[in-house]
Amino acid sequence: MNPRPRLVLLGKQGAGKGTQAVRLASHYDIAHLSTGDMFRAQAALGTAFGLEAKRYMDSGDLVPDEIVFGVIEECLAPGGPLSDGFVLDGFPRTRAQAEELERVLDGRPIDIVIHLEVPREIVVDRLSQRRVCVKNSAHIYSVSNPPKVAWQCDQCDGEVIQREDDTPEAINKRLDIYERDTRPIREFYGSSGRPLVTVDGLGDTDEVFERCRAAIDAVL
Ligand code: AMP
Repeated sequence: MNPRPRLVLLGKQGAGKGTQAVRLASHYDIAHLSTGDMFRAQAALGTAFGLEAKRYMDSGDLVPDEIVFGVIEECLAPGGPLSDGFVLDGFPRTRAQAEELERVLDGRPIDIVIHLEVPREIVVDRLSQRRVCVKNSAHIYSVSNPPKVAWQCDQCDGEVIQREDDTPEAINKRLDIYERDTRPIREFYGSSGRPLVTVDGLGDTDEVFERCRAAIDAVL
């Protein structure tokens, strides 16, 4: 068994990729790379790279590949911080990114691609209700499940806010981009012979985690 798997999580925004990626990273003792978190952290620091990415993120557009590829190359290259097992959350998002990932991994293929399936109407509802901690976006709340103290994170003292791209316009735009650019990646993986498993993303997070874990253990 490969103790440090290389995993990709695919799925619509709001399908629960971030939540499951955190659990999987801890379970398999692997690094978690969320490109969205990385861009938001850089934007909060005010770096030129982060502010450039923010322009696209706030309007619900994808950040251009030239920006994304630089980050990925640095993280995933042999000997880099993610060279010993990882779960990718939010990357790849286009076929060109999936091809770039294969190139960067250079003979160290992905072990399994998990597609978390959740219907569009459910993710629209989840995203409109979603509230996140500004200090750690893995600390996720919702309008119906708020923190105990008025919009202050229960797990750290971060402020809990609505993401700028969780407005109705940006949500719909992001989901349209998902259908156009990200969904076809499944065919790419299907035809490249990588194990691609669709996991039902409905239910509580423990149930979804068990489904993901069982799918991963079955291929390792
Ligand atoms: P997420 O937190 O994964 O929903 O990502 C938030 C935003 O970051 C996305 O709507 C994009 O603007 C940008 N982003 C994250 N990952 C990528 C990627 N792989 N390619 C292009 N843009 C990305």
